[in-house]
Amino acid sequence: MPKFKSILNENIKNKTVLLRADLNVPMKNGAVSDDTRLQAILPTLNYLVQNKAKVVLISHFGRPEGVFNQSMSLQPVVKYLANMVDFHIKFAPDCQGEIAKKAIQSTRFGEVVVLENLRFYKQETKGDVDFAKNLASFADIYVNDTFSSSHRAHASITTVAEFLPSFAGLLMQSELENLSNLLESPQQPLMAIVGGAKVSTKIDLLNNLSKTAKIIVIGGGMANTFLYANGHNIGKSLCEKDLADTALKIIETAKNNGCEIILPNDVVVAKQFVANSLSSNIDINSIQDDDLILDIGKNTIEQIANKINLCKTVVWNGPLGAFEIEPFHIGTQSVAKIVANKTANKQLLSVAGGGDIVAALNSAQLAQDFTYISTAGGAFLEWLEGKILPGVKVLQK
Ligand code: AMP
Repeated sequence: MPKFKSILNENIKNKTVLLRADLNVPMKNGAVSDDTRLQAILPTLNYLVQNKAKVVLISHFGRPEGVFNQSMSLQPVVKYLANMVDFHIKFAPDCQGEIAKKAIQSTRFGEVVVLENLRFYKQETKGDVDFAKNLASFADIYVNDTFSSSHRAHASITTVAEFLPSFAGLLMQSELENLSNLLESPQQPLMAIVGGAKVSTKIDLLNNLSKTAKIIVIGGGMANTFLYANGHNIGKSLCEKDLADTALKIIETAKNNGCEIILPNDVVVAKQFVANSLSSNIDINSIQDDDLILDIGKNTIEQIANKINLCKTVVWNGPLGAFEIEPFHIGTQSVAKIVANKTANKQLLSVAGGGDIVAALNSAQLAQDFTYISTAGGAFLEWLEGKILPGVKVLQK
């Protein structure tokens, strides 16, 4: 596990804490529509407030590209957050300059002030030193509680940590501990399930996972590239033909690492990529030139189920089919049910991460049965690729 300093070991009474969190919540018609991320930061917020720190809370929201945009203001999020807690939270309509300074000065210890969206300044995503220095000047210490943003070397994630003593918040700590405990020296055998659209985004992931996993299941659109590389006709399916050699190399690397790769042996195909289009479950040797592979087939699901029975840990990133469109959600959902049931029966440890798979698990109401769900997308992927996230690295000093 990457070593880091926890805020739990620091005296924070009467100190001003610059807390970087992720308030980038889904909104509908100007109101918060899913408060999962806000719930997740409550342990850190409560801890800081109860221990009489003054909290200066900072976050990004959306991608305003460095200019003010009312629709991406944090104000409605702050209003919602204020209703979730029993202490005082106020909002400052700027994260720099006099407005921020005055709002912080008038905030008492044991209270919270949230500064406006960091990304209204283009300096944030550029990791700008002066911008970060200014943020640092507001506080005595810095706390990072957003694992999900820590793969980005932004001013409020990495640069600011050069100017203040820096610590991990409780959410960050829990994410690092859970991922490390479950995946760094996992209970073997470990199965990795990797799906999603493209191989190109998951080459490092597959190569790194093949060092620890005993089995890698490859599904989704990216499996088509592997099938194509192995000489199968894949019809009109999504495929990165120029990556056929890369796919063969990944298979070779896995073999050398003693890792078995499972590719679909049957698939669900349709002639059109539309909901409820006529589909059929066919062997991978029977694909027609006008077929689109949109999901794994029944035999493949059964084969995966048999392999899961041999495993103690499953880590999952990416859907096994075009799950947003019925009936091509069936492969992902069937395998998810098996993993969820076995986890609930204490026969398996399971970790899933990345937006798409978490959405699929949530919509099938299976997420709660997994051992751990990481809400981080890109950061979870980079962690699985074996990279040290820049935002975590700066907490190690
Ligand atoms: P990613 O962002 O790489 O994890 O890819 C997720 C996307 O891959 C989802 O939107 C799925 O609909 C899509 N996907 C998965 N399997 C297929 C497939 N066989 N054909 C086309 N798209 C797919």
